[in-house]
Amino acid sequence: MGKVFVRKLVIKTCHGVNDFEKRQPQRFEFSAEVGCDFYEAAKNDEISQTVNYSTVCKIMTAVATQNVFNLIETLACRCCEAILENFPQAEYAVVRVDKPQAPIKAKFKTVSCEVCLRREKVYLSLGSSMGDKKAYLDFAVKALNATRGIAVKKVSSYLETAPYGGVAKNTFLNACAEIETYLPPRALLGEIHRIEAEGERIRALRWDDRTLDIDIIFYGRQIICEDGLTVPHADYKNRAFVLGPLSEIAPDFICPACGEKILDLYKKLGADK
Ligand code: ATP
Ligand code: CA
Ligand code: CA
Repeated sequence: MGKVFVRKLVIKTCHGVNDFEKRQPQRFEFSAEVGCDFYEAAKNDEISQTVNYSTVCKIMTAVATQNVFNLIETLACRCCEAILENFPQAEYAVVRVDKPQAPIKAKFKTVSCEVCLRREKVYLSLGSSMGDKKAYLDFAVKALNATRGIAVKKVSSYLETAPYGGVAKNTFLNACAEIETYLPPRALLGEIHRIEAEGERIRALRWDDRTLDIDIIFYGRQIICEDGLTVPHADYKNRAFVLGPLSEIAPDFICPACGEKILDLYKKLGADK
């Protein structure tokens, strides 16, 4: 694992909440740290195998000069996303934007903000129990992969399962998918809700029949316990329709909460029932 840095790239451009800042260029300084494994690049002394700092500068210059934003936060996030889009081998990117000429009536050296986005491996559970169930799961996979910041890496086979939870009446078609994403958990959940809505999901009773349901089972090794978002998923261990497809694509994945392997959890569930 290594890091490639760009420190204080100077770009004169227009950003700020004030109208005059949107017309008059001022000085901004862009810094980036990109995490990547460049061992092979170093072994071969080959620039195409590493994160080229000249390309990083070009990307940040393009974002800074082809847009006019209110916030340096937006500038930093857009630069970070563009760097990760351009370098699929990068594990994370940190971008800092300094605005030393910010129009503040005070003596100061600079104002700045910094953002870090990290590519994470995420496991999703997909389900459908209404209409053309296979078509809804196919749609979900396609829509996820078409979303900026998400790449679908693996999809399990589709499994017919009995309804769960005592509300739904229809048989389900279930699957699991492994994705790679640099979207933070809440942003990912937002995209999932958008895709469910595009898949004609109507939210009535919890656990009722639905055209499309997408749940986040694991988000890297993160443990999240927030209002409206629990990861690992609160009930996944009791669900053969999750553990079955997940055992197919990630049998050796270890739950960050309980420390057990997916395949072992699946076997345990089978033994219990
Ligand atoms: P279950 O989550 O038990 O499978 P469900 O999928 O039928 O039930 P939904 O109606 O789809 O439930 O979602 C209800 C809420 O659950 C969502 O609005 C979302 O905010 C919240 N939620 C909490 N944790 C997660 C998670 N890991 N993945 C998806 N949604 C989650
Ligand atoms: Ca669900
Ligand atoms: Ca859900």
